[in-house]
Amino acid sequence: MGEFDLIKRYFKRPARHAALGVGDDCALLQPSVGCQLAISSDMLVQGRHFFADVDPFKLGHKALAVNLSDLAACGAKPLAFTLALSLPEVNESWLAAFSAGLLALADAHQCELIGGDTTGGPLNICITVFGEVPVVQGQSQALLRNGAKAGDDLYVSGTVGDARLALDVLLGKLMVPDAVLTTARTRLETPTPRVALGLALRGVASSAIDVSDGLLGDLAHILELSHTGATVWADETIQLIAAYAYSTRARGQFHLDFSATQWRTLALAGGDDYELLFTAPPQQRDAVAAAALRSQTPVHRIGQMDATPGLRVLDAQGHLLPDNFASFDHFA
Ligand code: ADP
Ligand code: MG
Repeated sequence: MGEFDLIKRYFKRPARHAALGVGDDCALLQPSVGCQLAISSDMLVQGRHFFADVDPFKLGHKALAVNLSDLAACGAKPLAFTLALSLPEVNESWLAAFSAGLLALADAHQCELIGGDTTGGPLNICITVFGEVPVVQGQSQALLRNGAKAGDDLYVSGTVGDARLALDVLLGKLMVPDAVLTTARTRLETPTPRVALGLALRGVASSAIDVSDGLLGDLAHILELSHTGATVWADETIQLIAAYAYSTRARGQFHLDFSATQWRTLALAGGDDYELLFTAPPQQRDAVAAAALRSQTPVHRIGQMDATPGLRVLDAQGHLLPDNFASFDHFA
């Protein structure tokens, strides 16, 4: 099968909202009147971001999910995406599963594939997503990293730490019962982009970021751009690890023999969570709860923003913990 047949069979679909989809030199996208385009790219490289033998359906899902997560963090509504794909060979069953996983998530978010590029080479997947954010009275409604104020509450959505737990098990660094790995692996391989929450937080959150490299590392980006400090309640965050809940709640069938430091490291520096980390003034607590309800996404308060610069991590007794939760950095 040649390059153009491959594109036609696996990636070309009728344009829906786009003015022009796959097939010409450019796609054409018409943003709604009064909206800005929000644009973000993410690249997934075999051996770096995924294992060579990962289920291609799940890989298709994840490649788009990590991009949709960036739109979610900005409170942008997904519109369309492009796909630049480098493939070592034409493997039709792989391509069928990859495109099915990719397009299923695309359909779920009404985000259409409008173009891309296909070449031979090491397996590499680069997606660029386009979304839109309204401008109201000259003011962009995008959620950014720079709006946090001292005194704001700090929240994170969903669960954290499980993706890293799964990765460490797959790398042979940790052992857990199969049932724990199965759930954790779902978080690693098919993360849920929090698009609905991002939209619901427009006008409510003062700043937001998605957690890709690790909660504290990503929080540091908010601190830097917002010129604030923060206090994080470490032992609130470990409650948000699904595997922790299994192993400690009354009904928990599993005993996972991890130290407090191991749990805290998973939650605070795990990475690959694709949850939203955001701030909002205390007067907005009801509005945050309403946004969580409307988007059917759990959110938890895990700390607060401070006027004192820097990051303080506290245990359940309020004692300061050493801040050595390194987040992921490809070049560190
Ligand atoms: P050009 O050479 O003009 O850049 P190509 O011949 O590479 O265009 O691609 C032909 C058409 O197929 C273009 O519309 C392009 O956007 C689309 N396309 C190429 N690869 C992909 C892909 N992996 N997914 C979706 N569309 C693709
Ligand atoms: Mg061209």
